[in-house]
Amino acid sequence: MKFVDLRSDTVTEPTPEMREAMAQAKVGDDVYGEDPTVNRLEELVANSIGKEAGLFVPSGTMSNLVAILAQCGRGDEVILGDKAHTVLFEAGGISALGGIHSRQIPNQPDGTLDLLDIIGAIRSDDYHYPPTRLVSLENTHNRCGGVVLSAAYTRSVGDLAKQYELKFHIDGARLFNAAIAQGVQAKDLASPADSVSICLSKGLCAPVGSVLCGSADFIHQARRIRKQLGGGMRQAGVLAAAGIVAMETMVDRLAEDHQRARLLADGLKHIPGLILDPGTPHTNMIFCGLTDQIRLDGKETAERLSELGVKIGVVAERRFRLVLHYWIDDADVEKTVDAFRNVLA
Ligand SMILES: *Cc1c(COP(=O)(O)O)cnc(C)c1O
Repeated sequence: MKFVDLRSDTVTEPTPEMREAMAQAKVGDDVYGEDPTVNRLEELVANSIGKEAGLFVPSGTMSNLVAILAQCGRGDEVILGDKAHTVLFEAGGISALGGIHSRQIPNQPDGTLDLLDIIGAIRSDDYHYPPTRLVSLENTHNRCGGVVLSAAYTRSVGDLAKQYELKFHIDGARLFNAAIAQGVQAKDLASPADSVSICLSKGLCAPVGSVLCGSADFIHQARRIRKQLGGGMRQAGVLAAAGIVAMETMVDRLAEDHQRARLLADGLKHIPGLILDPGTPHTNMIFCGLTDQIRLDGKETAERLSELGVKIGVVAERRFRLVLHYWIDDADVEKTVDAFRNVLA
């Protein structure tokens, strides 16, 4: 059975054009800086978000980890939202591997951190406290429903970081979704930050990889940390080649995923037993839950849907996430609505 797989946009397999580019890629030893395809990808991504330099890393998790390790030492503190991917889903790497303390403040429903909360979390110079070094945002914000942060808000956090002499990181795994949804340039969302991480393997469809971007000095430091973590790859051009195709062909089409998310939400919203989160979808993901009338729990519902060929993410006892991506077409959307109607009838 061909599944309609809505669990994540990470399930996207590379396109035929990507596979062709991978097969033809010119390669070299990237640890020696000699892989022309990796070098081109790093430059391409950095340029596209207005940064000086980029670093190709195996995953978004490593990208965030490298960014934070490069800007904080052991015993330092990073201010993060309590629903940040780095807090929830990166296996505690910053503390396990970096000895870095996370100061978690509430993510507002719109994905932002309240500026007063950030200011309140910044430590004064007192030897009882870990020194605050970094503040980190996420755009789009995954666990806040795929919401977008605006350029104006991002700039206000950047200004605040400067005022308090903090570094500023953005986990921009889906930064291009955020830019396209708002009709702004990715540069406008990235420019206030010292470091920005971009995922190629989500909606952009590449099989592997993220690119961490920032100043040339920052990337120089980040390159050493990537090596420490075992992320120095050799002929990685075969992977970077797919990333180049992703950057050249997949960015503008993210708008289609957003439109299709809306189409799917419109289909789901009238199904008894299902409640969509207010405002969903903001970008390419829909969050919804079961009403009390439904006797199945979330896991059982997902199993029944799977029997009908539709896979969805179960994110809490009775809550779901459905993510639109390149391999989902209008017929798949229809099939998903029918499957929900069937299972919840
Ligand atoms: C997916 C994701 C990451 C990194 O994920 P990897 O699976 O390690 O590539 C980081 N941040 C956000 C917000 C994500 O959605």
